[in-house]
Amino acid sequence: MKPYDYVLVGSGLYSAVFAYLAKQKGRKCLVVEKRNHTGGNVYCENIEGIHVHKYGAHIFHTSNKKVWEFVNSLAEFNRYTNSPVANYKGEMYNMPFNMNTFSKMWGICTPAEARAKIEEQRSSITGEPKNLEEQAVSLVGRDIYQKLIKGYTEKQWGRDCKDLPAFIIKRLPVRYTYDNNYFNDLYQGIPIGGYNVIIDKLLEGCHVETGVDYLENKEYYDSLGEKVVYTGPIDIYYDYQFGKLEYRSLKFETELLDEENYQGVAVVNYTDRETPYTRIIEHKHFEFGAQPKTVITREYPVGWSAGMEPYYPVNDEKNQALYQKYAALAQKETGVIFGGRLGEYKYYDMDKVIESAMRKAEEELV
Ligand code: FAD
Ligand code: UDP
Repeated sequence: MKPYDYVLVGSGLYSAVFAYLAKQKGRKCLVVEKRNHTGGNVYCENIEGIHVHKYGAHIFHTSNKKVWEFVNSLAEFNRYTNSPVANYKGEMYNMPFNMNTFSKMWGICTPAEARAKIEEQRSSITGEPKNLEEQAVSLVGRDIYQKLIKGYTEKQWGRDCKDLPAFIIKRLPVRYTYDNNYFNDLYQGIPIGGYNVIIDKLLEGCHVETGVDYLENKEYYDSLGEKVVYTGPIDIYYDYQFGKLEYRSLKFETELLDEENYQGVAVVNYTDRETPYTRIIEHKHFEFGAQPKTVITREYPVGWSAGMEPYYPVNDEKNQALYQKYAALAQKETGVIFGGRLGEYKYYDMDKVIESAMRKAEEELV
């Protein structure tokens, strides 16, 4: 008999949700986390009473009622609605692409005028869009592509928009209404008190070790549990035997400022190519903070190399094909479950990670 039913590698949302559901079924869980804190990328740090999203802006949104009820059972959510603003060389545009954006760009007033403008600018694209550039021009026309998409996207992904898959831009809504809500989902908000409230509840009753790299002591940790739930990068687990998957990483530069309100909104995107960062987050606005000071974070996209945090999987065809090889190995494992953004190599939002962990728990915890 081993001391734990599950050894969970990583303490992000996937592991934490799985552990919570396992505990409800009377299973014993050990969580090992490489970082010196729990929560993975949703971790918040308290600076001057402001919950700072340490790994980039995290806005919870979902259309899945079960997931929404689940997270609301763990924390109360506020009414925050994400409405970022894009700054293109000092010109300010509302996001996502909606009548406010079109009106500012072209001085037009009605949806019919906006449609006519976009129709005229997309006429060069015929047939199914083959890449992100074609998809973007086809959705919003060439002016918006040039000012609000091209520079931002090429900074974010480190490659030309012609070499990126179309689906990345389909994440953003295009609306012919004056509605600046960045998401189409039914439910949206920020947990009051920050995301740590949720993670702490999920991990209550688990044994947690932080500052521990599972792969450096794999045999030992394997010996402690009947099964492993692994949420780190799948290619590292298999010692890169088929080659390295690509990721994008980020550098965060956080500053405490002696002023009350720096930019008037939580997120400003810098969409020109020259500004080296993609966005500035002003954290207090996620929770309508009234503190006398403010904390801002500049987000710089960088290429990933060993030793950096792999934030975004690059889900293009080449990497997808390589991932399939690792997934085939993973499928044959009887003692290891691979889950989450890195374990499944998927550009998942939080709700989708929770959904995936719930599905796996349902299958596994009979
Ligand atoms: P993670 O949170 O990455 O957790 C994995 C954990 O495993 C990490 O803590 C890592 O340190 C640990 N680990 C890895 N290898 C080992 C090892 N060998 N040993 C021990 N521990 C290990 N989603 C939204 O819904 N809304 C948003 O607004 C949003 N914004 C985002 C902004 C950014 C900049 C990023 C990067 C992501 C954003 N997301 C957003 C996505 C969200 O962060 C993820 O969906 C979610 O946090 C993934 O949870 P996870 O458990 O899969 O992975
Ligand atoms: N994007 C853009 N301009 C913007 C914001 C987003 O071109 O001002 C594009 C960019 O390619 C990005 C994609 O839309 O990768 C998805 O944006 P989202 O905000 O969903 O990215 P995430 O929050 O995951 O970083």
